[in-house]
Amino acid sequence: MMWLIRLRWIAAVGVFCALIFVKNYLKFSLPYNVLYSIAGILLIYNGIFYYSVHKFKELLRDYKYANFFAHLQISLDLLSLALLIHFSGGIENPFIFYFIFHMIIASILLSRKASFLQATYAVFLFVFIVLSEYKGFLPHYCLDTFVLSSLHDNVLYVSGIFFVFLTTVYFAVYMATTISATLKEREKNLQEVNLQLQEKDQIKSEYVLRVSHDIKESLAAVQSCIEPVTEKIVGSLNEVQNNLLSTAVGRTQRLIFFVNALLDITRLKLTKKLQMGYFSLADMIHNLSKDIVARAQSKGISFIVHMDSTIGTFKGFKVYIEEAIMNLLANSLKYTPRGGKITLSVNDMSTYIRIIINDTGIGIPADEMPHIFEEFYRAKNVRKIEKQGTGLGLSVTKEIIEKHHGKIRVVSEEHKGTTFEIELPK
Ligand code: ADP
Repeated sequence: MMWLIRLRWIAAVGVFCALIFVKNYLKFSLPYNVLYSIAGILLIYNGIFYYSVHKFKELLRDYKYANFFAHLQISLDLLSLALLIHFSGGIENPFIFYFIFHMIIASILLSRKASFLQATYAVFLFVFIVLSEYKGFLPHYCLDTFVLSSLHDNVLYVSGIFFVFLTTVYFAVYMATTISATLKEREKNLQEVNLQLQEKDQIKSEYVLRVSHDIKESLAAVQSCIEPVTEKIVGSLNEVQNNLLSTAVGRTQRLIFFVNALLDITRLKLTKKLQMGYFSLADMIHNLSKDIVARAQSKGISFIVHMDSTIGTFKGFKVYIEEAIMNLLANSLKYTPRGGKITLSVNDMSTYIRIIINDTGIGIPADEMPHIFEEFYRAKNVRKIEKQGTGLGLSVTKEIIEKHHGKIRVVSEEHKGTTFEIELPK
């Protein structure tokens, strides 16, 4: 809808410019006041359409009303064009073929039947003007310096142009509606495939959730069996037995960590809508910073927080927002060598909150940047230095931010550092 309105602004300005040019340079004797008035009316009704689109936004989502609105616009446009043509030479005016544009627009917006109906309306307007001028019911405004002699009463010329006009209009509608129907069909197919994929993804997530749950329970059982042995509650162990069991405990813990991350992302994906509530974002940042400061100190990394004083309460799912920020900070800690620096900035941008996490770490290789938000993806450079990692943290973070209608971006340079930027609408 807005596309057509935007086109009409351009068309109206085009008409004004063309009239100024014709009046001053081509000097045809035409009723310019009438022509300017028609262009003015074009601007006015376009203004009304512009206002209506905003005012009746909800109503226009209904196909019935949207269709009526499109019909109304195209019909008025055809009438304006017919009037402009009549007052500027009628059949002599080469702009008569601009009717074709309206036919293409109709074919895109309307059904095939409705487009042919508009084509018939265009032909009717054309025939009405041409015949009326021919018969002398309407005056003819001759483009005197453009054509050698008046053509509106030349039967051969009128019937020739009429034939070309008629066939062009209908052929254009036929071609445009065929292309448009093929595209609409393809779009429908794509939507169906998309829906099927979403359903399959949902089934897969539900399955992963069930399996991960079972694995987690079994792992917890294994852990509870090993613990009394490693803690020597059930008797002493020799060194070899102790070492073997310690490895088993370590591996079990890593597996539990991985399964928890998998459960986390799967649950998030299956949640259609988060239960939002108000909480103090400032308090949350203070609390999580305390934890990060301690971890950063033990690794010889400096950690700085900049937070705007206006940061107060925020509406969201507190646990998830905390998890998203923590995931990014934990990554910065993991992938920044000793002596590095991590900065957390929280800015109040009036309509949204901007959170920036910057580190002077190992960075992300440029060719791997497009993949880092994919599930299980870990870049080559981190796999060398940090064996542990699920490749799920960033997917969870992205899912959380998107569920809050926010955005997440990353800028990184290998060996220099990484910056994650989050935008959360208030
Ligand atoms: P992981 O468990 O491997 O940290 P994530 O999903 O959290 O998984 O991150 C995915 C990948 O993105 C990481 O393996 C790493 O390659 C890259 N990455 C994320 N954050 C950083 C960072 N701050 N510095 C360098 N690389 C990062």
